[in-house]
Amino acid sequence: MLWSGWGDPARAAELPAPVRELLTELLGVRPPAAPAATFGEVRLPPAALPQAVLAALAAVTGEEHVRADDDARIRHTRGKSTPDLLLMRAGDASDAPDAVVLPGSHEEVVEVLRLCAEHRVAVVPFGGGTSVVGGLTPARRGYAGVVALDLGRLDRLRSVDPVSMTADLEPGLRAPQAERLLAGHGLTLGHFPQSYEYATLGGFAAARSSGQASAGYGRFDDMVVGMTVATPRGTLEIGRAPKSAAGPDLRQVFLGSEGAFGVITSLRLRVHRAPAVRAYEGWRFETFAAGTAALRRLAQEGAPPTVLRLSDETETMVGLAKPTDLGTPGGDSGCLVVAGFEGAPGDVAHRREHAAALLVEAGGVHLGPEPGEKWAQGRFSAPYLRDSLLAAGATVETLETACFWADLPRLYDAVRLALHGALGSPLVMCHISHVYATGASLYFTVVTAQTGDPLAQWAAAKRAAGEAIVGAGGTISHHHGVGRDHLEAYAAEIGDLGGEILRGIKERLDPAGILNPGVLIPVY
Ligand SMILES: Cc1cc2nc3c(=O)[nH]c(=O)nc-3n(C[C@H](O)[C@H](O)[C@H](O)COP(=O)(O)OP(=O)(O)OC[C@H]3O[C@@H](n4cnc5c(N)ncnc54)[C@H](O)[C@@H]3O)c2cc1C
Repeated sequence: MLWSGWGDPARAAELPAPVRELLTELLGVRPPAAPAATFGEVRLPPAALPQAVLAALAAVTGEEHVRADDDARIRHTRGKSTPDLLLMRAGDASDAPDAVVLPGSHEEVVEVLRLCAEHRVAVVPFGGGTSVVGGLTPARRGYAGVVALDLGRLDRLRSVDPVSMTADLEPGLRAPQAERLLAGHGLTLGHFPQSYEYATLGGFAAARSSGQASAGYGRFDDMVVGMTVATPRGTLEIGRAPKSAAGPDLRQVFLGSEGAFGVITSLRLRVHRAPAVRAYEGWRFETFAAGTAALRRLAQEGAPPTVLRLSDETETMVGLAKPTDLGTPGGDSGCLVVAGFEGAPGDVAHRREHAAALLVEAGGVHLGPEPGEKWAQGRFSAPYLRDSLLAAGATVETLETACFWADLPRLYDAVRLALHGALGSPLVMCHISHVYATGASLYFTVVTAQTGDPLAQWAAAKRAAGEAIVGAGGTISHHHGVGRDHLEAYAAEIGDLGGEILRGIKERLDPAGILNPGVLIPVY
């Protein structure tokens, strides 16, 4: 993973000349005053952990699994949000951990937590490092130091239960590794977020991730049927049946807990048979409103596609090489729907037929497989573009929320208005890509010319969008989580009593407060 951006540096995406021209002419984007820092120019604070603590940690995991070198510290600094990248590009690694610890077993995690609690060292569970909400930037004050607990060595498929259709997997597995291991048994998880290539199973559970095929396979939190969690107070084994009436479901305490309550060291996940057929196709709707109504019907009237997404007019236009390909010659592009179907041949045929009938009835025009296949091929490449846009002098950010269907038009308008108010004349694109019978998520991408202080510019836009989301009745996050960036809005969303409950759980499980301090838990 590139230390200051996304993915494999060899796959960096150059912005095509016409796009550069468009950025300059439409948005007034100019190259930033200073080039991005090189790795050698990064400013790293001196490591603060006492030698005795490092030695004690090394005694638990083995010396080679406690790293305090510059390379390890820089690569475990923050996550991949826009401000994270802006800071790294400016050479600022002031949030770097003092050491990176790589435990090899659940027992080692328990022991590391015990040691860190004893020495008051903050611990940041670290999966793929793809958080986009400041989930890997702990508050340091009052701690002897900060350790990034990299779970990458916990990367085994432990067992498969083909009768119950579950698999026990370790949290440090990156999604493609997990899919490869499951493919050996003819199985799939069906979890494909845009961060698929780097994010881990533990991170998906801890941040309540949702993948691009959520309409068919569900969100990640729906897939978790059991888990093992290491806390500073000991171990919890949760989930002995798919559903239970034995009190509140404790799995829900740790799903979305973002490393603040414990470290997930094993997951029992629901799995599916690997699909024999995958078919993606495109549909065109005249307007976003018409497309939204069609998606709602698909979500409410049974057997939805596996992948279902609707781009608004702007996103459709920007995503097309030739907008008129989709619309009437010289006219509007309309709005693109991508529908993907995965499964056994008979099941796919049935769901395709059902969806086609409904989409036609709702005013959709079938565009054939090309737009769908094109989307599927490029589905993991957009994050590379963000780096190129930042380098070109644009600020680019993504925001997501969810609400009930009845509130969706108001939420859509409110967020767009807020972003325009905060940024002047940005390019604001939106899509719906996670649908439920009762509502859906809205995912916005905003691009604007960087000001001299892009961090302040980002903060103003983020605040405005957050206020608009809260005001219009949406949740502050559908799948990115809370981290530090959404803490204020989350506190408002759950209220004082909700915050008290979270603090009560935190105090019980982590009395020394060492787990990811500053993240998730509202402080009054
Ligand atoms: C380009 C890009 C695209 C993205 N697309 C999507 C998307 O489509 N859908 C989506 O849902 N998200 C998306 N994300 C957000 C991110 O990938 C998810 O939040 C993901 O779940 C994080 O996984 P990770 O392994 O990288 O976790 P990390 O970023 O390492 O950690 C995330 C949080 O979980 C905690 N944590 C990690 N592992 C554990 C563990 N084992 N036990 C306890 N706590 C733990 C961390 O302390 C942190 O608070 C995207 C991010 C980027 C940068």
